[in-house]
Amino acid sequence: MTPLSASDSTLVRAEADRRRTFAVISHPDAGKSTLTEAMALHARLLDQAGATHGKASRAASLSDWGELERERGISISSTALRFGYGDAIFNLLDTPGHADFSEDTYRVLTAVDFAVMLLDAAKGMETQTRKLFDACRRLGLPVVTVVNKWDRPGQGALELFDAVQEATGRVPVAVNWPVGESGRFEGLLTPGESTYLRHEAVDSGAHLAHEEHREGVTDAHLDPGVWKAAVEGASIATELNGVFDRTAFLAGTQTPVMFTAAAGNLGVRALLDFLLNQAPAPTGRTDVHGQIRTVDAEFSGYVFKVQAGMNPAHRDQIAFVRVNSGTFERGMDLRHAQSGRPVLSKYAHHLVGRGRQTANESRPGDVVGIVNATGLGVGDTIHAGPPVVFPGMPRFNPERFRVVRNRDAARHKGFAKGLAQLESEGAIQVLRDAEGSPGGPVLAAVGDLQFEVATERLHREFGAEVALDAPLSYDRARPIPAHGVQELKAVTGLRILYRPDGEALVLFPDRWKLERTVGQFPALFPEEGLAG
Ligand code: GDP
Repeated sequence: MTPLSASDSTLVRAEADRRRTFAVISHPDAGKSTLTEAMALHARLLDQAGATHGKASRAASLSDWGELERERGISISSTALRFGYGDAIFNLLDTPGHADFSEDTYRVLTAVDFAVMLLDAAKGMETQTRKLFDACRRLGLPVVTVVNKWDRPGQGALELFDAVQEATGRVPVAVNWPVGESGRFEGLLTPGESTYLRHEAVDSGAHLAHEEHREGVTDAHLDPGVWKAAVEGASIATELNGVFDRTAFLAGTQTPVMFTAAAGNLGVRALLDFLLNQAPAPTGRTDVHGQIRTVDAEFSGYVFKVQAGMNPAHRDQIAFVRVNSGTFERGMDLRHAQSGRPVLSKYAHHLVGRGRQTANESRPGDVVGIVNATGLGVGDTIHAGPPVVFPGMPRFNPERFRVVRNRDAARHKGFAKGLAQLESEGAIQVLRDAEGSPGGPVLAAVGDLQFEVATERLHREFGAEVALDAPLSYDRARPIPAHGVQELKAVTGLRILYRPDGEALVLFPDRWKLERTVGQFPALFPEEGLAG
């Protein structure tokens, strides 16, 4: 492998600059799918958002993984949506929609450069909204806040601003401001300007909204009181919280706020324009030694998702890789940084969007699917050229624990293999005691759904007959350094288990015991108080 020439490097930097790689996240039902469709509509990916009903067909029309799906009979279309907008390429990475907040969502967030957080105007901050904001904080992600469903009666805009600030510590600043209270969405003004963008939904979401600029004061269609209230609201928000500052947004101290009614395509164009002009493009990523692999260095990427077993006939495994640097080409020489082994890139798939503006190469910020990538685990690095290792996937502290038993000794091999596979995908955590848990390891999860998925897959993909014991009476866990094990062994009521990489995890029966232990041994829990 020869290093990139100067002109290649300029090209890769320019391509990276065009990328906007992000996730839309929200409490279920806030309108994530609707906004995704509306964005795709604006990007002219579809001529009719919402014209197809049912998530399956919609997903199929939104992405272009068709070839791989046909070949393998598996569905991966929801992993990422790619579309051109202006001269940019947007990579919208999908997060699981189910209510159990899981590590899956967190993993996707490690592969994006910013997040778009949707709030339902009527519901404001909800449970998942808080958890997701917290996940973004832990990952240092800039967040654009979008108040959706402004066409429906809901809370006041200033009230929502307060709620966001109180729950997240980020200062919400108005990029635009709704003309009309929630339930009467007439248009959007830019704070400080005398005109506004009047809009009208056409054909309930099937076409772009009708939009035109009007003078607020003289607009005959607007009740003067409505205009006055909007101007007042916007100026209060600006006086209290200041104006948009890109540096503060990127640092996570500010969150720009915009208003939409995604179902009617209202405010969506303004959102896309904002992302195009202000949201961050991919930049160099820091490796485990604190060195930055710049975007124009040779190819490197990071596995953020592993999907296996969608088709039992093939026992396929696809590793989804976010390109961190360089250009990915099928057939290139690649290595798996953790094992040093070569990775077969011949059957890799670029995620290619539709439309003229999306290129066929995968550049920084893009997603590549590597088929039959046995041995690649979530959080692993692959690279061409000089070796690099990016920090692995941060693990969640599990909250539910159940011993899993193999009921058929003849199928022990499948059982062991299956557990190793689920662990490497990050589908569930597998913990063992100092003796190796001969009776059966402890499965540890963040949400109950993970146990169901794990037992079902052990059976279906690995032919193992398993049984889960009743849940253990612990409800939180924290990692400790190896030297802490001896000290904590003497404490009653705790249990110490080990992750496959040898890291020790202490299980606590309740919050009280956790706080007491942290108070007694603060040096063993340096992160406590920082993250949940
Ligand atoms: P998700 O669970 O976050 O993906 O939410 P969906 O996109 O499936 O939307 C949930 C429900 O809210 C659906 O019935 C949508 O039609 C509706 N919805 C989404 N956006 C809007 C909006 O802007 N206005 C109104 N009135 N309804 C919306």
